[in-house]
Amino acid sequence: MSHPVQLLGSAVSRWGADPWALGSWSLIGRHGGPRDRVALGTPIGGRVRIAGEATHATRAGMTHGAYEQGLAAAAWAADRGHARVAVVGAGMAGLAAARALTDGGVEVTIWEARDRIGGRTAGVDVAGGAFDLGANWLQQYDENVLARIAEDLGLTMIVTDFNDPLVLRGEPFPDGLEDDLRRRLASAAPDAGIADVLDAWLRDPAPWTAAEIHRFVAAEIVMDAGAPLSWLSARHGFEPGVGEGDRWIAGGYRLLVRHLATGIDVRLRHPARHLLTLPDGVVLTGDAGTLRADAAIVTAPVPVLAAGAITFDPPLPEPHRTALSRLGAGRVEKVILRFDRRFWPEHGYYRVHGPSELCISEWLDASAADGVPTLVGLFAGPWLDDLWTGTDREVAARAAEVFRAAVG
Ligand SMILES: Cc1cc2nc3c(=O)[nH]c(=O)nc-3n(C[C@H](O)[C@H](O)[C@H](O)COP(=O)(O)OP(=O)(O)OC[C@H]3O[C@@H](n4cnc5c(N)ncnc54)[C@H](O)[C@@H]3O)c2cc1C
Repeated sequence: MSHPVQLLGSAVSRWGADPWALGSWSLIGRHGGPRDRVALGTPIGGRVRIAGEATHATRAGMTHGAYEQGLAAAAWAADRGHARVAVVGAGMAGLAAARALTDGGVEVTIWEARDRIGGRTAGVDVAGGAFDLGANWLQQYDENVLARIAEDLGLTMIVTDFNDPLVLRGEPFPDGLEDDLRRRLASAAPDAGIADVLDAWLRDPAPWTAAEIHRFVAAEIVMDAGAPLSWLSARHGFEPGVGEGDRWIAGGYRLLVRHLATGIDVRLRHPARHLLTLPDGVVLTGDAGTLRADAAIVTAPVPVLAAGAITFDPPLPEPHRTALSRLGAGRVEKVILRFDRRFWPEHGYYRVHGPSELCISEWLDASAADGVPTLVGLFAGPWLDDLWTGTDREVAARAAEVFRAAVG
């Protein structure tokens, strides 16, 4: 008889509680729209600009959207002839901006609050392998500018087919349900939340059953957003991105991040607290001192800015403040589990229904990274409150049990 499966190592994310993220990726609330993303990224006078994934009108919530917004901010600063630029944040947007400006001969200093670079890409070593606790895939692969860089670097990338998950302990969704949902969301009142659409639909669900609708929404919207459906915009809360040729990087996003950061002046453990704009420059103040520059590019995530972690003098203009109040972020958490042997069917991507009706998790088989049986689980929704408590080991054990029970 073979020995019981052994967990070799695990890692668990805590994006909801991380003070420099306060969530996973930006989302549009019921009173907002893509115009708020544009407003947030509009330059503030000639010396300050907010960049980052949340400011991309069509590629928000993704690394290549962040990267493109970093490049746009760099081009803006260079066009104005700024010779010294301060960048807040060494995530994808901040590194993209700093890389482009540095390559163009501009003097750049990044202040990064954490003790590492990468932001919401977060490499972690688990039982001898390198994985991601943050961004996992290069999405919209064909038009993804980071994918081109990864190709140039010769990185190994592995395709995931999100449109064909192996459903464990549950039923596949009936054809036509997603189209029906998307039609209803698109024709909702401008400030309706997804919950409003759902409530109306459930009063007359035919030809679907209420249970099918609930399960579909839990799998497609809750898993994709991790935000309350009463807050999430019906028209804009279900943004595109997943399922367009997505690939993950063997060895993790850190391989891209390190490349972008090469030769950049990044000051770790330098949280920015205050940004003063003067007629002839900006002054950034933080726990570690002050930094003077001609301009500043701020890439802190939306919830961090909305919480007032950085105060602005003069205060942010009204359109920016309004945008911050209409955008937000949900909570999607990840777990990485490495085992001594595979105990699940080979497929690549899995959706698990259970342990109860609306508890849905999604899983990537990441064993191809180095041959060691590895699962990457994604969790979202109200059950996180119970699942994601205690030590990392406890969370990992609970998450592993969800998958194990589904495999049977
Ligand atoms: C679990 C999870 C899974 C994801 N999966 C994918 C995926 O598969 N594909 C994909 O494309 N995207 C994915 N994303 C989203 C992607 O990670 C982000 O959209 C992208 O990394 C954001 O980059 P950014 O530069 O805008 O922000 P960040 O990466 O958050 O960078 C901002 C930086 O600013 C720093 N900072 C914040 N406040 C301060 C301050 N006051 N002073 C100094 N520094 C500060 C932060 O520490 C951080 O390093 C995922 C995210 C999560 C959390």
